[in-house]
Amino acid sequence: MRPAILFPLFAETRTLSGVGPRIEKLIAKVAGTRLLDLIFDLPCGVIDRSYRPTLAAAEPGRIATVTLNVLDHAMPRDRRQPYRVRCSDGTAVIDLVFFHGHADYLQKTLPPGSKRVVSGRIERYKDKLQMPHPDYVVEPGQESELPLHEPVYALTEGLPAKSLAKAVRGALEKVPPMPEWQDAAFRKVQDWSSFTAALLAAHAPAHDADLSPDTKARRRVAYDELLANQLALLMIRASMRAAKGRVIAAKGALKAKAVAALPFTLTEGQGQALAEIEADMASPTRMLRLLQGDVGAGKTAVAMLALLDAVEAGCQGALMAPTEILCRQHMASLAPMAEAAGVRMALLTGRERGPSRDRTLAALAEGGIDILVGTHALFSEDVTFRDLGLAVVDEQHRFGVHQRMKLQGKGERPADVLVMTATPIPRTLALTAYGDMDVSRILGRPPGRKPVATRVISDTRLDEVVEHLRRAGARAYWVCPLVEESEKIDLAAAEERAETLRRTLGPKVGLVHGKMKPAERDAAMEKFKSGETQILVATTVIEVGVDVPEATIMVVEHAERFGLAQLHQLRGRVGRGSAKSSCLLLYHAPLGETAKARLKTMRDTDDGFVIAEEDLRLRGAGELLGKRQSGLPEFRVADIAAHADLLAVARDDAQLILARDPELKSERGEALRVLLYLFERDEAVRLLRTG
Ligand code: ADP
Ligand code: MG
Repeated sequence: MRPAILFPLFAETRTLSGVGPRIEKLIAKVAGTRLLDLIFDLPCGVIDRSYRPTLAAAEPGRIATVTLNVLDHAMPRDRRQPYRVRCSDGTAVIDLVFFHGHADYLQKTLPPGSKRVVSGRIERYKDKLQMPHPDYVVEPGQESELPLHEPVYALTEGLPAKSLAKAVRGALEKVPPMPEWQDAAFRKVQDWSSFTAALLAAHAPAHDADLSPDTKARRRVAYDELLANQLALLMIRASMRAAKGRVIAAKGALKAKAVAALPFTLTEGQGQALAEIEADMASPTRMLRLLQGDVGAGKTAVAMLALLDAVEAGCQGALMAPTEILCRQHMASLAPMAEAAGVRMALLTGRERGPSRDRTLAALAEGGIDILVGTHALFSEDVTFRDLGLAVVDEQHRFGVHQRMKLQGKGERPADVLVMTATPIPRTLALTAYGDMDVSRILGRPPGRKPVATRVISDTRLDEVVEHLRRAGARAYWVCPLVEESEKIDLAAAEERAETLRRTLGPKVGLVHGKMKPAERDAAMEKFKSGETQILVATTVIEVGVDVPEATIMVVEHAERFGLAQLHQLRGRVGRGSAKSSCLLLYHAPLGETAKARLKTMRDTDDGFVIAEEDLRLRGAGELLGKRQSGLPEFRVADIAAHADLLAVARDDAQLILARDPELKSERGEALRVLLYLFERDEAVRLLRTG
């Protein structure tokens, strides 16, 4: 249950005065629909009205507050002219300028002969000073109506700054005094105020420096958010591990047979990772482990060997992949190992239906299948294993914390879980996203891989690239970008590209895209794999895990639209065989600064972990893997790059809290529950028995 103290913050913004249906929609665009969203929408700028020069000394272009005597009004001669109110402070004369000014109103607020305090931007126009549309006009003695410093919030078209600022103020008024969830000693050392005071301070900048993520106010709130994140992950971890784990120990007989059948020897990195996984499986606590490795590092073989251990130990294994293509590919590449080890593998995807599906399910329940490969269909209600010991999930970033929590309860002896991700993730980010898991990394790559020669080329030279493809006669991918908002247009672009390439290169040009039916898509991939098509034009559907070792050229059109992680994934599709490969990144000028830096990084390095760190530096963490890929947590205030030091502390803090008070029952525990709800990490609270 959400603590009652937080109820007001979960109210809709429309309950605020001044927020009608129109403003509500606009606020939803920039912040969200609830007061909670407004209070965490921190200012991105500040207006300083504390500058109070004499008119003679005023710097043009600056916002200033001046005390003026109103001299007279100059009515416009026609409607295109502005209405001018001439004023003076004794040192100089200034015109307050109003376009479409209402004479009645201006006569009333600025009567000639009166004294007024006026704040706004002072400009010099020809030889005269003027202030177009002052922000504030108040009578002397009522300066309290005139804020010296005003926060500026990010806006959207049509949303008046004053309306948003007023709504945020209204929301902040509803923030109750909160119980203190931070450790008193730690807070004292940091010299932090209470949550509510810090939040209010973060909304009340006086100078640009107050907008920095390094201010005490912002750091306090960021820390609270990181603490909520780490606490939730550790609670999930604790609950996953509370389920009695099992000991899956094998002598390694099946593994040995499979390894003997491999046409290569495992790399040191693979061996290391496998050893960590095996030790974890053999321990009585439940395994929840992330296997990280760059594209082509050889994660699949490692996972398969772990699955064989599980089979040897007398249980079953499952391998889940996000798409049908990948499942089929895994089936094909793992079949030789399975055969050598004498284990029975089967496939289950959404496509298997009717009697064949029934047979698979029956065999699975009886133990007639040792390893099941499938899409998420594998975890549907009617799928029962005789005894699932190890579940491997391929391609982590489509598999967020919610999905992991779903894996929780299958069977009374829940399976060990190994999640593979091909996207290298910076250490800090790994902690926020997968803090509930242990991490193994496959460092290095199989020997003999030649680096992919990467070139960044303007798309004005497209013809040369096509000519290069024609002469090389190599197997090549040609990727066209997909922008979510206009899938249709992008599709059209890909279709058109396939068409133009066919004109020059002949009929051996295939096309694969996300709107195709799975069967069509598989067929197109198959043709490319077999060499029936030489060039495969694709939208980004090929991004994930497709393995065609014969492909040696990767062309990416509009490379500037892709994120670093995506480009790295795409480039990883080539350079998989022994032949020399190249990656041609076509860009459309002009390039922005970040895009330039991204493309340069691609040219300079092929180390996925370096690229990931660079990606974090260049972009917001939330964007890191692209918006569509959800697994990453979103932070409202915390900034993973700026607050990395706080993350480590929050991790330790959360560990200590749960060690002392696993049920969050102490006074601080109760306060921490409020924190979890405040940052909407409350799914973890429900895992507490007393929750
Ligand atoms: P990942 O899933 O990590 O991207 P894969 O497991 O798909 O990588 O392996 C990529 C390719 O490298 C596959 O064709 C695989 O057979 C091969 N491979 C895996 N391990 C080795 C190794 N130790 N030596 C040589 N080739 C390997
Ligand atoms: Mg893979």
